[in-house]
Amino acid sequence: MSRPLRVAVIGAGPAGIYASDLLVKSNEEVSVDLYERMPAPFGLIRYGVAPDHPRIKGIITSLHKVLDNPKIRLLGNIDIGSDVTIDELRTFYDAIVVSTGATGDRDLRIPGADLPESVGAGEFVGFYDGNPDFERNWELKAEKVAVIGVGNVALDVARILAKTADELKVTEIPDNVYENLSLNQAKEVHIFGRRGPAQAKFTPKELKEVDESPTIEVIVDPEDIDYDQASEEARRASKSQDMVCQTLEGYALRDPQGAPHQIFMHFFESPVEIIGENGHVVGLKTERTELNGDGSVHGTGEFTTWDVQAVYRAVGYRSDPVNGVPFDEGEAVIPNDGGHVLDPETGEPITALYTTGWIKRGPVGLIGNTKSDAKETTDMLFLDWKDGKLPEPQNPEPEAVLSFLKEKKGLAVTTWDGWYRLDAAERAAGEPEGRERKKIVEWDDMVKHAGPQSHQGDLS
Ligand SMILES: Cc1cc2nc3c(=O)[nH]c(=O)nc-3n(C[C@H](O)[C@H](O)[C@H](O)COP(=O)(O)OP(=O)(O)OC[C@H]3O[C@@H](n4cnc5c(N)ncnc54)[C@H](O)[C@@H]3O)c2cc1C
Repeated sequence: MSRPLRVAVIGAGPAGIYASDLLVKSNEEVSVDLYERMPAPFGLIRYGVAPDHPRIKGIITSLHKVLDNPKIRLLGNIDIGSDVTIDELRTFYDAIVVSTGATGDRDLRIPGADLPESVGAGEFVGFYDGNPDFERNWELKAEKVAVIGVGNVALDVARILAKTADELKVTEIPDNVYENLSLNQAKEVHIFGRRGPAQAKFTPKELKEVDESPTIEVIVDPEDIDYDQASEEARRASKSQDMVCQTLEGYALRDPQGAPHQIFMHFFESPVEIIGENGHVVGLKTERTELNGDGSVHGTGEFTTWDVQAVYRAVGYRSDPVNGVPFDEGEAVIPNDGGHVLDPETGEPITALYTTGWIKRGPVGLIGNTKSDAKETTDMLFLDWKDGKLPEPQNPEPEAVLSFLKEKKGLAVTTWDGWYRLDAAERAAGEPEGRERKKIVEWDDMVKHAGPQSHQGDLS
């Protein structure tokens, strides 16, 4: 082929960015258009990672090197499946990689889950991380709050609820988030897990960090430290799980100091009902559980009602389908064999359609995990190309798709140069307050900086 291989990658989160990097850095001539629904790239690094995790947010800086490569063209503010169909994309590209990640909350089906103060953790994350798709005002009147789930997202939510607004003011949080958090009444945050410390999904560093704020102490009831044979094996098999258990044991051993904000971690408590009164949350009912020997638990029939006025459900994220791409509703992933998107009817790969990241394997794992994921997918894509399995698109020239997007579709495309302008504007907004950046939230404001009205020459 005398022209470069043309690939459309859909979703500029870590998975899509790493896949783009692997494609253009291969020994082959490849050019990538990286499509993104939001006006700004970086997916959950920008809209999931907590604002008081600047080191992780800093991964964005290392991803700059990837996106500075002129072989990758960022086309933001375009929703694939809605603004542009997969079939339309096929006319411009040899192959398409879907890396649309996850933004929604998995359901927790217990009575009372639909009460107004019972909310998905993802919604709260969307609020405090300044995602324009989410609520801009968050009422934080509850003094005692429950967080259901024992993973890092539960820790993020508990930490943000327990920290003072001033502790968070040094971060990138926008003004409306600071204003809402300054009215936060929460004094006690109760985290609940169905199983024990050896089954918790926390990572050791994040579990330690939650206790580091001077205004927070973590409290664990010594009764909640229990292990069965499978738990002991899990500790032996995983250094990280063992460290989590050791940290929780340390929390259980010490006496409470009476810090102004307390995070209680409860294990072996399975939430069975969110209690409502006059349409508002007044409690959470849990059933005590016991280990079975294999790491699973059974209910003991002993129930407790916890006095809480709000419940945050941190039981996992969930991916949304992309129109024109098969979706497994049960698993909430795109059916795949590790890289190819599979036709659910035949089980066979769909020509020139691939997937990577959280939409491929479900919403688990850290940013770094999306790298090996992307490698598996791009290896399959290259193999198919070499085997002549990728059909010739009608209009592979890079300019053809641009005029289609701008002239035929009338889209206000945001760009990589545009990101630099948005980045500069956010840094400038933070500077007078001595902060590294202050996030710009509103969709139109982001487009104003990163889009065509700001700089007509970006994509010419
Ligand atoms: C609350 C939270 C906190 C986290 N904290 C950490 C942490 O501290 N450290 C860590 O290592 N990991 C953390 N993670 C995990 C990390 O965010 C994920 O591993 C990673 O973001 C998954 O990458 P992805 O690219 O598959 O998905 P995403 O990051 O979700 O990116 C997908 C991108 O696709 C875009 N998109 C979606 N649909 C379309 C469409 N139709 N058209 C075009 N674009 C589309 C989205 O807007 C998004 O930008 C956290 C996750 C969450 C939820």
